[in-house]
Amino acid sequence: MGPLAVDLQHLLCGLTAMRDAQQSLQEETLDPADWAEVERLATLMVSDAVRNLAGLRERPVWRTMPEDIRASFATPLPQGPTPLGQVLDGLRETVMTYPMGNTHPRFWAWFMGSGSYTGALADFLAGIQGSNLGGGDHAAVLIDRQVVGWLREMVGMPDSADGTLVEGGSAANLIGLTVARNAMAGIDVREDGVAAIPVPLRFYGSDQVHSCHRKALEALGLGNRALRRIPVDAGFRIDIDHLRAAIAEDRAAGFRPACVIASAGSVNTGAVDDLVALADLCAAEDLWLHVDGCIGALVAIAPRNAPLVAGLARADSLALDPHKWLHAPFSVGCVLVRDGARLRQAYATMPEYLEPAPRGVAAGPWLHHLSPETTRSFRALKVWMMLKEHGAERFGRLIDQNIGQARHLAELVDAHPRLTLAAPQVLNIVCLRYDPGGLDDVACKALNVEIMLRLQEDGTAVLSDTALAGRHALRVAICNHRTRLSDLDLLVSEIVRIGDALRPEG
Ligand SMILES: *Cc1c(COP(=O)(O)O)cnc(C)c1O
Repeated sequence: MGPLAVDLQHLLCGLTAMRDAQQSLQEETLDPADWAEVERLATLMVSDAVRNLAGLRERPVWRTMPEDIRASFATPLPQGPTPLGQVLDGLRETVMTYPMGNTHPRFWAWFMGSGSYTGALADFLAGIQGSNLGGGDHAAVLIDRQVVGWLREMVGMPDSADGTLVEGGSAANLIGLTVARNAMAGIDVREDGVAAIPVPLRFYGSDQVHSCHRKALEALGLGNRALRRIPVDAGFRIDIDHLRAAIAEDRAAGFRPACVIASAGSVNTGAVDDLVALADLCAAEDLWLHVDGCIGALVAIAPRNAPLVAGLARADSLALDPHKWLHAPFSVGCVLVRDGARLRQAYATMPEYLEPAPRGVAAGPWLHHLSPETTRSFRALKVWMMLKEHGAERFGRLIDQNIGQARHLAELVDAHPRLTLAAPQVLNIVCLRYDPGGLDDVACKALNVEIMLRLQEDGTAVLSDTALAGRHALRVAICNHRTRLSDLDLLVSEIVRIGDALRPEG
């Protein structure tokens, strides 16, 4: 035998020995040894989940977590196994018993959806189906594309628009503003970076814009100061004359006015900027119009209130949030860009390890060209299943229902001698204060905060608060398909009862 054959024989002996050693170890998998047992546990889990939702109204909206439950979340890393049944039992007493509360009919804090059973089933099925939505030729990608198309249709954007599903509204706004920056920079920002932008860019929004826009401007390398906050009118809408003057002033000072961020439903009060006037202004001044429609974009499908967001579809880019008024379980946001090619231009890359193939799974559309993410979740499935089950019209009616409920609440507040509306009610947000008279701002705020906290601790209702023109207000955002008018009647009587008991004598 030659030296090469001897080496080969050595190698083969070595490999055989390694294989024998491995076989003496157990080969492992994460799949259960007993599928029937897993099926039994999963069935129990689903029954629990149904009972949980069916009994929601009877439970407190929120409750203080006892110390022993809190401590259960600080245990060390488990090195060994625990039977799944035991893990699920623990979960029932801890995680499932102490939710945030936003699925409850009397949760009206901040602005979030109240979830849906079908959406939850979809999240489960999305995990079982297991696809990576970075792209490829498979069913999940087509559903993702279809959902983006449906959302585009719901807000009335043209066929030329394209978009992508993302984590939430903040990510959607960040992407929209990125496309705006790239379009307005006058250079290839992707290649040369923001330092090469010849004329510094200015973005504009009202002083009511959501905080995610500040984070976006920071992430874009333009800095917070590049976002000019314009004062609002008595309805908390951007003051267009002020905006026009600011644009002229900036041009004269050597800036390039680049983009107006319109609020279609502002986070504090639900105010809708005059979208038609802003679209006209942007067209005349050659600015990009980005609409933050995380609250109000879907009002476009509400038959009674759609005129409130007229002009929405003229946006160059639009952020919306299906995990708010479509009640998809967290999380899913969406950005749409009128000229879809611009979205692709902002993110498309062609690394050698992701080249499309002529046939097979790698021949499908690559969705990672539409956002900064590579791996993407199958979040489209929950929106798809919910829209299939209920139809878009029911969601439109539910949006009208919430706005009608907000009007009812605003009327109750207006009619009560010790309650004051702190802002006009337009959409589904009501800002109010309990004000018995004779209190300064500090005392009035302390009293209202105490009312808000007692409502939570009693498990009656969860509201949040804010400041409007420097004055504290309670804020009730009714983005909830389980709320009934009687829940709002209860809210008003409880605010007054607690306020009356707390207010200083006099
Ligand atoms: C909720 C909201 C956002 C942020 O969206 P997330 O889904 O929370 O990231 C942005 N703008 C407005 C007006 C919002 O209401």
